[in-house]
Amino acid sequence: MKYQLVCKKCGKVIGDFATWFKQDQLCECGSNHAEATYSTDYSLLEQLCTCSNSADNLYHYFDFLPIEKKENIVTLGEGAVPIEEWQFLADYAKQNYNIDCKVVVCRNDLNGGSGTFKDIAASLAATVFKENGVEDYCLASTGNAGTAYSTYLAKAGKRFHLFVPEDMYQDSIDAVRATGQNLIVCDGNYGVAKKAAADFHKEQNVMISAGNIDPIRIEAKKTLVFECLRQLGRIPDVYMQAVAGGTSPIAYEKGMREIASTYPEHKMPRMILVQQDTCDPMVQAWEWATENNFPEGFEKNYPSLEPKTRISILSAGTPGMYPIVGPIVKNSGGCFLRVKEDELVDYGRIIKREKGIYLGPASVVCFAGFYEALKQNKIKNGDLVMLNTGEGCGRAQWFKEEIDK
Ligand SMILES: [Zn+2]
Repeated sequence: MKYQLVCKKCGKVIGDFATWFKQDQLCECGSNHAEATYSTDYSLLEQLCTCSNSADNLYHYFDFLPIEKKENIVTLGEGAVPIEEWQFLADYAKQNYNIDCKVVVCRNDLNGGSGTFKDIAASLAATVFKENGVEDYCLASTGNAGTAYSTYLAKAGKRFHLFVPEDMYQDSIDAVRATGQNLIVCDGNYGVAKKAAADFHKEQNVMISAGNIDPIRIEAKKTLVFECLRQLGRIPDVYMQAVAGGTSPIAYEKGMREIASTYPEHKMPRMILVQQDTCDPMVQAWEWATENNFPEGFEKNYPSLEPKTRISILSAGTPGMYPIVGPIVKNSGGCFLRVKEDELVDYGRIIKREKGIYLGPASVVCFAGFYEALKQNKIKNGDLVMLNTGEGCGRAQWFKEEIDK
């Protein structure tokens, strides 16, 4: 067998996804946290990650993904998106802070499925389901994941039931309806949608997303580490993104552990994760930990907030993954930062002026975070900084309209 799922809690070897699904995505010890390991020789990774190698999608890394047969691949051209250098940000850092750095941006808006970083996870999910005969799936989502899964599971001919909060963008609702999947708009916030999906899972016996630590999502998103090697020839010194759930930083850390034996010279980047001031529970938890010198078990202390944000995809008020993400950030030498939601349109305008493109509001949270990181002296001379911008503006027309005002 090419891969095996191993329980993160008790270390038991669970087996493949067929077994994992049969066990309702739980280890015998009750834990829902499993990780894929590979018997593939990692020297092969070096060939895949050479800069001269071109890639069409994330299945460039088939040998390090948890699927056995290429014929099961469901793809719309996702992953392997350009990581572009944005010189104007380096110029800004030099002119205003006298810092020499290089800034690159991962253009997830160019993903082929729905134009977000979620596409790679949805693509791998559709592929894994096809390989393992899963016909029905349900998920609660605040927007991007739901749209991506609707798109890919429709392409794979799988039924999908999506539970969304009442404030989901109309553009996302339209996009999901267009796929013909089953959309349930709940009477309440994301928490209500999650409860409705969990009830549906139990009553209808339909498989449900395993959340932010879902090994499918982690395995898909870890390929960004490989993409850094392939496109940049190295791992950045600083990795930045807007954070809601926290799958992507968990996945990046997993990817770094996978390359450790092949590329011992590369270190985990300093993770700088950004939230907007209208929904910033991880930032608040981090500030508390900083003020208290990171006491033992600091990661278990976090608030649960009622979000007041218009950015529905960044409206996770209860940061359930902070106990995993907090220590990853700490060990990386990074931090959490806050930006102001009412300044985001201005930052969106800078991107439009400099690059001629519109990024979605969550991407602009990450972008604004770079300016905040400079202000707080978190960027150092010689740093290669990567901004992992998660989405374009396709399904946030209100944001685009405000930028154009
Ligand atoms: Zn276990």
